[in-house]
Amino acid sequence: MIVKQIWTGNAYRNFNYLIACGETGEALAIDPLDHEKCLKTAKDEGWDITQILNTHEHGDHTGGNDAMVRQTGARILAHKDAADKIPGMARALSAGDVVKVGKTVELEVLDTPGHTMCHVCLLSHTDRPALFSGDTLFNAGAGNCHHGGHPSALYKTFSDQLARLSPATAVYPGHDYIENNLRFTLSREPDNEQAQAMLDRLASQDPNHAYVSTLEVEMQINTFFRLTSPTVIAKLRESFPDLPDQPDPRTVFLKLRELRNQW
Ligand SMILES: [Zn+2]
Repeated sequence: MIVKQIWTGNAYRNFNYLIACGETGEALAIDPLDHEKCLKTAKDEGWDITQILNTHEHGDHTGGNDAMVRQTGARILAHKDAADKIPGMARALSAGDVVKVGKTVELEVLDTPGHTMCHVCLLSHTDRPALFSGDTLFNAGAGNCHHGGHPSALYKTFSDQLARLSPATAVYPGHDYIENNLRFTLSREPDNEQAQAMLDRLASQDPNHAYVSTLEVEMQINTFFRLTSPTVIAKLRESFPDLPDQPDPRTVFLKLRELRNQW
């Protein structure tokens, strides 16, 4: 499996992806908003884009579909419940489905509601697993729930699915928000030394060569995985004085999501 992360350089800070089979040169484009950059990358590598995967229905993820389909004839894949929201969908995806790219690449579909209620992530079962997480999981952050999502569903996705994946899983999100997210983590947990060290290191990173984290790293630097941290809980109590001594992780997650909206 060959992965190309493509930095769009747009105001929304989108990352697009190409996933290719090294044997056949067939490629899958994830959320190819910047269809021109994606097509140029594929051409430079000698790849044929035969499939488009939309992680969800938002325009900054689907906006490149039409042009990409016109130029490649690629089929559009997305969550089964997105069919009335994404024009031209050719394959409706459910949890556990397998997306094949060429002869060598197989990606498992995860049904990951929360940011929207028809969001999928793709998981590779390669030696080093990889998660293409769209707007569900960001580096050091979580998706918002403003446009068709639900915070409780997002919590369940984090706790029941993402937190159970192999710690070695590489994380490829839909946007470059790491700097801002690390600042939020530090506002909630000022003694998080790993987050501070990473912010010092990445504050001026070139998104064309972005740092790729793992779930193991996310467990250290992502507030939304640090729901039992005594500092996170103590700090949360400053905003929510009624918080019990040992709040359940779901409550902590929902309060953090609420604070992140206002931050
Ligand atoms: Zn979105």
